[in-house]
Amino acid sequence: MKFKSLFDLMKEYDTEEKCRDYFVKQRWNGNIVCPHCNNEQSSKPIYKTKRGIFRCGHCGKDFSVRTNTFMGDSPIKYQKWLMAIFLLTSHKKGISSLQLAKDIGITQKSAWFIIQRISNIIDTESIKLDGTVEVDETYIGGKETNKHKNKKTLSYDKVRGDKTAVLGMIQRSGKVVLKKFRKINKSCIAPHIEQHISQKAIVNTDESAIYKGALNGRERRIVNHSARQYVFEDDTTNRIECIFSHLKRMINGIHIFLSAKHLQKYANMFCFRMNTRDMDEYTRISALLSDIDNTRLLYKQAIS
Ligand SMILES: [Zn+2]
Repeated sequence: MKFKSLFDLMKEYDTEEKCRDYFVKQRWNGNIVCPHCNNEQSSKPIYKTKRGIFRCGHCGKDFSVRTNTFMGDSPIKYQKWLMAIFLLTSHKKGISSLQLAKDIGITQKSAWFIIQRISNIIDTESIKLDGTVEVDETYIGGKETNKHKNKKTLSYDKVRGDKTAVLGMIQRSGKVVLKKFRKINKSCIAPHIEQHISQKAIVNTDESAIYKGALNGRERRIVNHSARQYVFEDDTTNRIECIFSHLKRMINGIHIFLSAKHLQKYANMFCFRMNTRDMDEYTRISALLSDIDNTRLLYKQAIS
């Protein structure tokens, strides 16, 4: 059944077995592959044993649907994983580890680790933007006294302080990609523009000098903020500025103690929610779980 709400989900997946089978279907869709030796059962079968454990007829090793995935060897029940995925991906502004811990009945430390593990599955590397693409940069974090309403009134050196820079790229009526930098300049953004923006795209930016030479010949339309006048009516960076204000609200409202080193993961989760906003809950979660092989994240990796 295609669940639309948390209520539907709880009703449909009311046992551990049903939740486990759901993950088995999402991961392998009927074609179970051994995560130890990649046996696809062309000659050697995979046997199903008790409690969701499989035994490979080729290498002889046991595995479960958790093996080599973001769920790793965690003792957290499948039902809680499924609920956590639902809550994390359906709440527009995200959910804090404190709230997640309360909602599904686990410790805050486990909830934090779950958020890290789920965020880690999200891959924005292959996203390609075309048409009109708005590109802008913003700064996140830092001391309250250092904050300014308009970053453009300050020179880069004054603004950076202990803030983290984020480059944002959004296609009109399309997807968004966010990249974190410790320090933002022409040479560090150029490879990301190359990776994510089609050569034929029209790129709207502000007057910032960092874009000069970073666009590798792509057509640039400069939005003159100070003049508030645009050559063409739609030469704006309004959409990416709107994304930044959503991102900042999410961080300020939910993730109060979000440190700079984890910002990219939270930004990816934010992008995933934005980029799947037209999907229903079932399709969105299926998209998230479509490629979960080798997504295991160790605790020591999560905190580094
Ligand atoms: Zn095997």
